[in-house]
Amino acid sequence: MIDINKIWKETLSYVSSEITAVAYMLWMDSLTPICVKDNTLILLAPSLHAKITVNKNYKDIIRKALDKTRSSLIDVDVIIDEETGLYASEIDAARRNAPQMEAPAQKKQPQFIARYTFDNFVVGESNKLAYHASQSVAQNPGSAEGFLSFNPLFIYGDVGLGKTHLLHSIGNYITENHPELKVLYIPTEKLTNDYIEAISNNKEGEKGSFTFRSFREKYRNVDVLMIDDVQFLQKKTGLQDVVFHIFNELYQNGKQIILTSDRPPKEIGTLEDRLRSRFEGGLLADVGAPNLEMRIAIIRKKMLLEKLAVNDDVVYYLAEQFDSNIRELEGALSKVILYANLINKPYPDINTAKEALKNNQQKKVGLDSSDIINAVCSYFHIGKSDIISKKKTKDIVEARMIAIFLITELLSLPLVTIGQLFGGRDHTTIIHSRDKILAAQKESKEVARQIKDIKGMLNL
Ligand code: ADP
Ligand code: MG
Repeated sequence: MIDINKIWKETLSYVSSEITAVAYMLWMDSLTPICVKDNTLILLAPSLHAKITVNKNYKDIIRKALDKTRSSLIDVDVIIDEETGLYASEIDAARRNAPQMEAPAQKKQPQFIARYTFDNFVVGESNKLAYHASQSVAQNPGSAEGFLSFNPLFIYGDVGLGKTHLLHSIGNYITENHPELKVLYIPTEKLTNDYIEAISNNKEGEKGSFTFRSFREKYRNVDVLMIDDVQFLQKKTGLQDVVFHIFNELYQNGKQIILTSDRPPKEIGTLEDRLRSRFEGGLLADVGAPNLEMRIAIIRKKMLLEKLAVNDDVVYYLAEQFDSNIRELEGALSKVILYANLINKPYPDINTAKEALKNNQQKKVGLDSSDIINAVCSYFHIGKSDIISKKKTKDIVEARMIAIFLITELLSLPLVTIGQLFGGRDHTTIIHSRDKILAAQKESKEVARQIKDIKGMLNL
């Protein structure tokens, strides 16, 4: 078994003799080896800026040093937090293989993304209720404030507007200020997988007695339970039933429950009434699209955090172009920075920005994944729930692949996120669909026409 920490230590000792102490402190010290994929050592950088710098200036040196360790590793790659999803199984494997003495380091593998904090969240008209409610819940989880009950706290709003950021902020705050409290964050897809696993284990183990004991144990023994994207509970009646019981048990014991969704409870189809009324029983807080001023503030904050520099014109340009999804806004900024680095312009101006985003059709104001999914569904006359379901009928599969292809082509969303949009599919499935349609589009006139028609529906 490869011990990546040991190899990295050795690598560093070679690297340290090759570069200045300052460069070492600034860049090498901040890298963490997290896994191995295809004989490549994957290092986690603390910021996009660090990733770019290391890739550009130090990768060769690291590669050479790695070679001297005589391990089976032949290359290195540097990634940032957002990309860890692509290496989930490798990271899991690396963690399992970590030697015993690494236990304290494991503890450092936190549940919450460090940069998703209240401090890093820009507050404005469109999200202030959700922000203040989240803070209040983080400070006093489970307790009622006067007449107002914040339990459950239900945060809803479109994709990319900060719901997950707020959940992690609550998590980070509680971990730091009430370390004695047990907080559990779970995306609904993960909950679904756990549930499916519980069912299959149960079938084998205790015939007929569906107690889901281990499953429920995990969720009832917490002080704060956060379930992200509960719209994915749609149509999952068995799981809804279990969530209902967990909810009641936690609630009755004064535990805090926080939920997010892309729509309010009453718009979540096939949600059992009793669960819906539980979801609505506390505080409903929405997050809306940020105004221009907020978008500018968000870009500036991100620049400050990641030590990035761009011209003021560029800040304004990005804020104007990307007005409905903060993830896309951030993605555009990263794209500009990466592009500028590529052409050796460390301080991008407006022309560089335009150039960088030239092929970025998401410039079409407001286009997002649900527009694309809706257009594909109405073009093929299939239901939105079918397209994200596991159904494998020919026409649904085709429509689904085309929707996936268009999303990868038109939006710069991470593959993992696209997988989530389609009912928690793996990123490899997304790549497969994209490539298949890319090829089909060239080979089949019909597919090419379908894509053209759908783009027409989107005014592209
Ligand atoms: P959602 O869960 O609503 O789809 P996320 O919480 O994943 O959205 O947010 C998408 C990205 O936008 C994240 O990188 C997040 O940090 C950033 N973001 C969202 N809202 C804000 C905000 N108000 N201030 C700063 N960054 C934000
Ligand atoms: Mg989210």
